[in-house]
Amino acid sequence: MLFRRIGSAAVEEMDILPGSARCGLRGSQWSFVDFVTVKRWKFGLGSTLSSLVAAMGLVIVPMSASAEWYRFSDTAMTTPIELEFWAKDKELANRVGKEVLAVFHQVDEQMSRYRDQSEVSRLNRNAPDGPVEVSDGLFEVIEKAREVSLLSQGAFDITFGSVGYLYDFRAGKKPTDEELRSGLPRVNFRDVILDEDDQTVEYRQAGILVDLGGIAKGYAVDLGIERLVSFGIRHARLSAGGDMRLLGDKQGRPWYVGIRDPRSEGRNAVVLPLEDVAVSTSGDYERFFVDEAGERVHHILSPETGKSVQGVQSVTIIGEDALTTDGLSTAVFVLGPKKGLEMIERLKGIDVVVIDDQRMMHVSEGLVPPQSD
Ligand code: ADP
Ligand code: MG
Repeated sequence: MLFRRIGSAAVEEMDILPGSARCGLRGSQWSFVDFVTVKRWKFGLGSTLSSLVAAMGLVIVPMSASAEWYRFSDTAMTTPIELEFWAKDKELANRVGKEVLAVFHQVDEQMSRYRDQSEVSRLNRNAPDGPVEVSDGLFEVIEKAREVSLLSQGAFDITFGSVGYLYDFRAGKKPTDEELRSGLPRVNFRDVILDEDDQTVEYRQAGILVDLGGIAKGYAVDLGIERLVSFGIRHARLSAGGDMRLLGDKQGRPWYVGIRDPRSEGRNAVVLPLEDVAVSTSGDYERFFVDEAGERVHHILSPETGKSVQGVQSVTIIGEDALTTDGLSTAVFVLGPKKGLEMIERLKGIDVVVIDDQRMMHVSEGLVPPQSD
């Protein structure tokens, strides 16, 4: 099988680089079950994904004159957007590229907390006074957020804003314990009441601040993929920062998705051969500063204490849709390796790779060891 040949080549390549590994996935929707488990496995330095692919010397032969891979990039939702897809001609590709990138600006305008006129900002202003009717998209995202909150027993909580907004990562500012104490009573996802029939949202108390920073990018990625499919695209990779979704494979071989080493930009801790899945990573390296006590203050907060969660460097979730994987990656980060893995093992079709603060890797059961053949 072609894939096996390519896969083995990749593993040999990775083997040269100490500590690198590839994960395979068990389960019918994932056919690439060739390699490596990394259970509680300590890794050293990985290789960059691009050098891996380059080393494999892959050549892509276009099917027709101008059918080829097209690439687009942009910045939206305060994050880099990357799009790559196979299309039959340039004219179509340009139309598709434009429409898919536009999705991220639309979702930004709808769900950003930085925009006074976004739907979320209006909700935050009005929902304490009574039910507010919201769009299908916003309702879907808040409903999913609630589901993830319930699953994670509150580790994921979109009402973290009352303590979250006391931080300024760029300025290196964090709240005092006193300030946290006064904000925490307004952090509770249970105070966000959803009415499915009327599609309304209401807050049970004044001062609730909903922020979809931990889940909205996943939603946008799913919308972008829907748009690609509607144009007949069958092979694509679409990412918004740490949230990615793959459509199909990369023309006869899997997409190789690197999970970066949380402490070394440009290096991968592990590489996963994947197709047709969503992959989200939450890390403590995106927005952070180191405080006077030497503690890393970063953007993923415990809704219980209002402080940055310690003990984890990154969490990667693999699942079917990016809305789910985005929410879950933040949730598992807050829960930590033990509780996080327990939660994921209960869910069907979801896998996780956690890199803890000792640089140990913990993976869910769906990630399997290399098969000797
Ligand atoms: P990224 O934004 O880097 O993709 P995440 O998906 O993990 O990473 O989202 C982190 C963001 O989630 C934070 O910047 C913040 O907006 C929000 N957030 C932080 N803590 C929580 C939490 N406990 N529950 C829900 N959202 C959170
Ligand atoms: Mg997330």
